[in-house]
Amino acid sequence: MQKSIPSPVDMENKQPSILIAGAGLVGSLLAIFLAKRGHRVQVLEKRSDPRNHGHNEGRSINLALSHRGLRALEAAHIDLPKHILAEAVPMYGRQMHNESGQLSFLPYSSTNECIYSVSRSGLNNCLIEQAEKQGVEFLFEHHIEATDFSSRTIQVLHDGKQMVLTAPVLCAADGVFSKVRLSLEQQYLCRSTLEKIDHGYKELDIPIEKGMLLHMQTALHIWPRGQYMLIALPNFDGSYTGTLFLPFADEALSFQELKDDQSVTNFFNTHFPDTLPLLPNLPAQYFAHPTSSLANVFTDRWAFDSWLLIGDAAHGIVPFYGQGMNAGFEDCRLLDELLSIHHDDFSRAFSSFASTRKKDTDAIARLAMDNFIEMRDLVADERFILQKKIESALTKAFPDQWKTLYSEVTFSDTPYHEAFLRGQKNQRVMDQLMQDATIDVNRWQEKEIWERMIKQIEKWSGKS
Ligand SMILES: Cc1cc2nc3c(=O)[nH]c(=O)nc-3n(C[C@H](O)[C@H](O)[C@H](O)COP(=O)(O)OP(=O)(O)OC[C@H]3O[C@@H](n4cnc5c(N)ncnc54)[C@H](O)[C@@H]3O)c2cc1C
Repeated sequence: MQKSIPSPVDMENKQPSILIAGAGLVGSLLAIFLAKRGHRVQVLEKRSDPRNHGHNEGRSINLALSHRGLRALEAAHIDLPKHILAEAVPMYGRQMHNESGQLSFLPYSSTNECIYSVSRSGLNNCLIEQAEKQGVEFLFEHHIEATDFSSRTIQVLHDGKQMVLTAPVLCAADGVFSKVRLSLEQQYLCRSTLEKIDHGYKELDIPIEKGMLLHMQTALHIWPRGQYMLIALPNFDGSYTGTLFLPFADEALSFQELKDDQSVTNFFNTHFPDTLPLLPNLPAQYFAHPTSSLANVFTDRWAFDSWLLIGDAAHGIVPFYGQGMNAGFEDCRLLDELLSIHHDDFSRAFSSFASTRKKDTDAIARLAMDNFIEMRDLVADERFILQKKIESALTKAFPDQWKTLYSEVTFSDTPYHEAFLRGQKNQRVMDQLMQDATIDVNRWQEKEIWERMIKQIEKWSGKS
């Protein structure tokens, strides 16, 4: 190993760089925020430059960007949402496909709000480009292997050579399997739990000419089937990216059971028959695409003096609320605000960020797990759909008293833990109402029921 050397910028006797681990979505956006504050920023990324050749490493090809993410992009750079939304597809709700191919649409909001399907690599490349314009230096093919907190140094492998860089300020945005986090754990500085879920996922492509067969491009398509589900998000070119979520093993239907072409075709034929015309060469693409795992990460400490864990490295979550990236982007915006409050004193800002933010990311992790059940199971349940209709009407009639949990999480900045608590109160009121077996699509709008609801809402908001 080479001797400990200062980072490249130190050698020129300039202001030492802030080092960011990982040029993923969060690391690249954070780099823009920090550069705009006047700091020198270097980003160390183990992969090669993604702008030269796209790679997703088995990650989702597209993802849902919503209010929190957009707000952070706006705060970082006035033009960022414009660049990114230019090739985004709005999704106004869930288009459900039942087993006999019947469709039903559940809007996300009663006021026509939407989330956006964006290309992961397009978004990442755009952030890297914008960061470079702010003077950020990206060091690709620099693999962080370990850290030594006491000497504030990191060990990096580049071009077959190991080097040690000084890192007075380090922001680790190196993802859910963060090497920096692991290394800090080995130094007994924090502890984390990686909760892998029983389900894995596999992406399947619906090409442009087949995508045209799907009714409604501006929706997130779901084939809910109880223990498992298929979803598809639209791409800008008219194609879709489907994702099959299925238990890995130990269930009657699992990835383990789908061993050969015939079992895959039979499975789709039985459970998702209307998708067969959409998925050409199904068995071939099924076996060509990886099966990946999903996990929540809970870390008991994120701030270590002037070192910080951020984004998935601190709090990775399963993707069922479409909030992992949005939460990571919101991290960046909130951290930027705290840096302003603490006059760029990194230790104080990092410590304040970690202590205020964790209850929110714990809440969204819980909500993401709950939403998995809602997506794969409940959206096919008639009583659940009725409840959603009632909630939608309540939101319209009493916009100040009743906001749906989905709206609070997806279309507002309400801290996740507050949205979570309010959602629980809403659910209690709604459960009471739904216990009345006579509530149905026609009856629930009767005057007496409206009055009962209003009373419940007023009681809930402390007005009676
Ligand atoms: C199937 C799926 C669907 C999803 N859908 C959505 C969605 O719809 N909406 C949403 O908001 N979120 C979604 N997410 C979550 C989202 O992908 C993550 O929250 C987001 O990517 C986190 O960004 P990050 O920068 O923290 O981590 P990452 O995107 O993982 O980036 C980490 C970066 O660090 C680099 N790196 C790792 N280790 C090292 C090392 N040792 N040295 C140097 N570099 C390193 C990696 O190469 C990578 O570039 C989804 C996730 C999955 C898996």
